[in-house]
Amino acid sequence: MVNVEAYHHLQAALSPSNTALIAVSKFKSVTDILTLYAAGHRAFGENYVQELVDKYEQLPKDIEWHFIGHLQTNKVKYIAPFVSLIQSVDSLKLLNEIQKQAVKCNRIIDVLLQVYVGDEETKYGMDATTCLELLSVWEAQSTAFSHVRIIGMMGMASLIEDPTQVKSEFIAMKQLFEVLRKQFFFGNDAFKVLSMGMSGDYPLAIEAGSNMVRIGSTIFGHR
Ligand SMILES: *Cc1c(COP(=O)(O)O)cnc(C)c1O
Repeated sequence: MVNVEAYHHLQAALSPSNTALIAVSKFKSVTDILTLYAAGHRAFGENYVQELVDKYEQLPKDIEWHFIGHLQTNKVKYIAPFVSLIQSVDSLKLLNEIQKQAVKCNRIIDVLLQVYVGDEETKYGMDATTCLELLSVWEAQSTAFSHVRIIGMMGMASLIEDPTQVKSEFIAMKQLFEVLRKQFFFGNDAFKVLSMGMSGDYPLAIEAGSNMVRIGSTIFGHR
């Protein structure tokens, strides 16, 4: 069941820092999404292509859909016509495919680069070196990426209970974000979104400099 009260509390807690809230609705029903929609919410995050397409078709068209799961290149075409932000770009191959599909749809698609820090390689995303390599190619061949706009970075902390460890990973991601912003975007606001923080760790993420959180279970209950 949707906890609208928790949603309002969350919005109140996030508004002083101007942190954007993406409501993660994976595995949740269209009815649950509509409940939050009726409370005024418009930005939703989904992890699976088929589920996102089904929901997109059934739900109001002013919803801003964020793709936050691992995206296979052969599935980009299904979400390219309508997705607002693809938060999970983890390879140059995927970036190339998004460009190709965006051209076909005659759209410019905003994306985030998904990175991980720390030594757990269990997660999707790129390590810092791979991310720097991707941006070097992107910079050298910028005309080849006319229809994708890299507007920031997404990261997840390891599933570790120790808040000190989680916090230090968020700080490392914020540092990487600033390095990328300086090196490839001349420190300007074209590269502006730092998406980190979920139900269990978002206060730590915001302390470390996140400006977008992706929250599921706090709003929609456990999956
Ligand atoms: C599921 C998911 C979330 C939301 O997780 P909660 O713990 O339910 O808030 C956030 N980000 C990503 C990438 C996810 O897959």
